Amino acid sequence: MTQPTVDLETVELFERELKLCKVKADEAVAVVTAGNERAEYAQAFMLAARRLGAEAFQVNVPHLQDRAAGVQGRHPLAGNRRAIGAVKGADLLIDLMGLLFSKEQAEIQASGTRVLRVVEPIHVLKQMFPTEDLRRRVEAEKRILESGRQLRFTDEAGTDVCYRLGQYPAISEYGYTDEPGRWDHFPSGFAFTHADDGGVEGTVVLKPGDIMSAFKRYVQTPIRLTIREGMITDIAGDGIDAKLMRQYIESFDDPRAYAVSHIGWGLNERANWHQFATSRHAASEYVMNALSFNGNVLFSTGPNTELGGTNDTPCHLDLPMQGCSLWVDDVRILDKGRVVHPEMRVERGA
Ligand code: FE
Repeated sequence: MTQPTVDLETVELFERELKLCKVKADEAVAVVTAGNERAEYAQAFMLAARRLGAEAFQVNVPHLQDRAAGVQGRHPLAGNRRAIGAVKGADLLIDLMGLLFSKEQAEIQASGTRVLRVVEPIHVLKQMFPTEDLRRRVEAEKRILESGRQLRFTDEAGTDVCYRLGQYPAISEYGYTDEPGRWDHFPSGFAFTHADDGGVEGTVVLKPGDIMSAFKRYVQTPIRLTIREGMITDIAGDGIDAKLMRQYIESFDDPRAYAVSHIGWGLNERANWHQFATSRHAASEYVMNALSFNGNVLFSTGPNTELGGTNDTPCHLDLPMQGCSLWVDDVRILDKGRVVHPEMRVERGA
């Protein structure tokens, strides 16, 4: 077998990442992979862990052929009790296959293992590399989402929608993890929560330039969504985008696919709205620039299981929007796509 090609620059980048995760000499770092996917990342993370004096090992399982793009919570580790047992023995698990939103991931976290998802290409990992200042701002967002009782956002295209908050906690994603059992995604830069069950009312207009991550598309023609009691009741629009969205959601033949999902805003000043234009040919990755760019509203539809809800529909759409104004309990956070809340402004020189 040929060895995966690993360069020193990647090992050094991953060593910096593991230092942010506070990997110590008495810890074990596990890497989980499927088939030959990201074999060079696996090697580079293990070498980086060794440079910090930690133990390192890889759990590799067969790649599954039936994974549909955009379908979450399904992965090749499911049902493999011995492999799950092995990774629970590590202090930090580097997830190179995508355990996202699965019960296996929840089980691994519950054992105290911190989990770091890594699927983006190396140039994006460098470009969006996390900082402690990003963590500070994303944690401020998480606190606001957790203590808030109402979130509202608007835009000039006609969006005006309200979320009732309080039932669910919030999750932060700033790109590294140094707390037992905590999950993160390298790289990221936002927090999110869910509305109370049935607690979203209003209109969302997706306008040209907003992003439909699952379709690898910038919206070209407006889509007008009517939302009642947390469900999309109408998808209006004459263009191709409304048609795509209608047909895609319909294809799941699942009324729960029309639910409104997580809500939050992007805070990574190193992430680019335009990056998506250069990475549209990738299968399921390359979305973190779109989800994280500073000042987006990350609107989404579908499941709410990642925060303890019961809707596990596999139909999930992340729909980052530009140019929105957003308030939590009448405190303005975004003004037409600019972050104006003092706790979330980028620190100079950070
Ligand atoms: Fe999402």
